[in-house]
Amino acid sequence: MTSEILILGAGPAGLACAMELSRKGRKSFLVERDAQIGGLAKTLTIREGEDVFLTDIGPHRFFSKNQYLYDFIEDLLQEEWRKVPRLTRQFIDGKFFDYPVKALQVFKNIGPVKSVRILLDYAMARLRFGLLKKPMVTFEDYVVANFGRTLAEFSMINYTEKIWGIPASTIHPDWARQRIHGLNLWSVALNILRQAVPWSRRGAGKPKSLVDEFYYPQFGTGRIYEEIGKHLQKAGCELHTDSEPIAVRHDGSRITAVDVRFADGATKTLQPQTVVESVPITRFLELLDPPPPPEVKQAAAGLKWRAQVYLFLTLDKESVTKDNWIYFPNKDIPFGRTSEMKNFSADMCPPGKTSFFVEFFAFESDAIWSMDKDQVLDLVMPYFEQWGFFTRAEVRQAYLWKRPCVYPVYDMDYDKRLSTVREYLDRLSNLIYLGRPGRFRYTNQDHSLEMGIVASRMILEGRKYDLDTIGSENEYFEKGPIYEKRI
Ligand SMILES: Cc1cc2nc3c(=O)[nH]c(=O)nc-3n(C[C@H](O)[C@H](O)[C@H](O)COP(=O)(O)OP(=O)(O)OC[C@H]3O[C@@H](n4cnc5c(N)ncnc54)[C@H](O)[C@@H]3O)c2cc1C
Repeated sequence: MTSEILILGAGPAGLACAMELSRKGRKSFLVERDAQIGGLAKTLTIREGEDVFLTDIGPHRFFSKNQYLYDFIEDLLQEEWRKVPRLTRQFIDGKFFDYPVKALQVFKNIGPVKSVRILLDYAMARLRFGLLKKPMVTFEDYVVANFGRTLAEFSMINYTEKIWGIPASTIHPDWARQRIHGLNLWSVALNILRQAVPWSRRGAGKPKSLVDEFYYPQFGTGRIYEEIGKHLQKAGCELHTDSEPIAVRHDGSRITAVDVRFADGATKTLQPQTVVESVPITRFLELLDPPPPPEVKQAAAGLKWRAQVYLFLTLDKESVTKDNWIYFPNKDIPFGRTSEMKNFSADMCPPGKTSFFVEFFAFESDAIWSMDKDQVLDLVMPYFEQWGFFTRAEVRQAYLWKRPCVYPVYDMDYDKRLSTVREYLDRLSNLIYLGRPGRFRYTNQDHSLEMGIVASRMILEGRKYDLDTIGSENEYFEKGPIYEKRI
């Protein structure tokens, strides 16, 4: 082993950590289970004869208020790093709605009776949760308090229940705090007014969900991570794909050794000074030798993950729609979101062609998880034909991928279970667990990159920083320089 720092998982968090360390002359040793680095944010290359289609596995916009991260990526990608206008719609009750919302369109689509009901419900919710101080205990309470019941049910509650597969009344309010922080009927109305006023500073001071442009690399979000990979190899770091840890040995206060199985089937025992891990936290616990005590195992067993199924279609067609994404909150439609990679960057498709990406949220026990490509295609085509998107004859090829452990489920007792697991892991003084899977935290790329960068500071400076403040709404996340909060 050429390094004292072992990084498990080469997604955005692990790679950012390795990259920052290498800039300071420190080499790390990376072990990645997949054949390609980049984690959930990798970009796949699909070749059909001479034609090349590129796709993220669910397109990734980049947005952060942290200038350090923009500079970090711009250094890697130079002119490949581009600004893209955001065009998003929701399809609700048979009608398309622009997002961010346009008042006139909403009014036209839902009619005067429902519009008045939305306003009355909002006033009622402000009275109950604002004036009378009814506590917000669940995600459902949080959105009803901020939007009123009619509007909350119209889109947010439905879509959230589709993502998580559990009722909104059993989802932890952390999810709302993280995802719709700063968003309420009032901020949405202000945004509508801003759009109507041409000299307003679009984007200034908006909640992040309402931002109407974002950055996207010319050849897919995975380019960020490919460039980091190249840099690491040049810097002499070892990056092993198709490899994984098979045991993590410890003495209760430190990790003493990690057994790794490499792509050729060989296994080796490594003895790193520090282990940075972004493997799903529940899997990491299973690797520990000796195993954790029963109460920790029991807590971990209750941490649930939501999986995803993806259908990618290459099309003999110039364009389907102009949207980046379309969201489908209604539960009678089996998929949650579609997107067209070409609308992120024209270079994602050959000239004159396009592609279409369809996302399903699932538990591994759901029927969709065991369907094959043709079954999933049969399931979705009637919708796309009905909306005039494309016909079956225009589909060149279909590709199906399935991913476990994509979304950490924030149910009502996830935080207690997670605290039990973390208290145990925190005893291992040379372990840093980070990223979306490693911390069981719904992060976007920016948060995971930031965690990786902060983790590198921990190693370089030999001190601890609070990784949980990254991505939390009221801390330094998205505001300015990284690594402000030491603990
Ligand atoms: C459909 C979808 C759309 C998204 N859209 C956006 C978006 O628009 N904007 C945005 O900023 N973010 C988006 N995200 C979130 C973004 O993908 C994640 O925040 C980011 O990839 C998390 O990085 P990470 O390094 O923390 O974890 P991951 O990306 O999960 O990386 C973890 C790595 O560990 C590896 N690993 C797992 N188990 C093992 C093992 N046993 N041994 C070795 N290696 C292992 C995995 O293969 C992976 O490479 C989206 C995510 C999804 C799923």
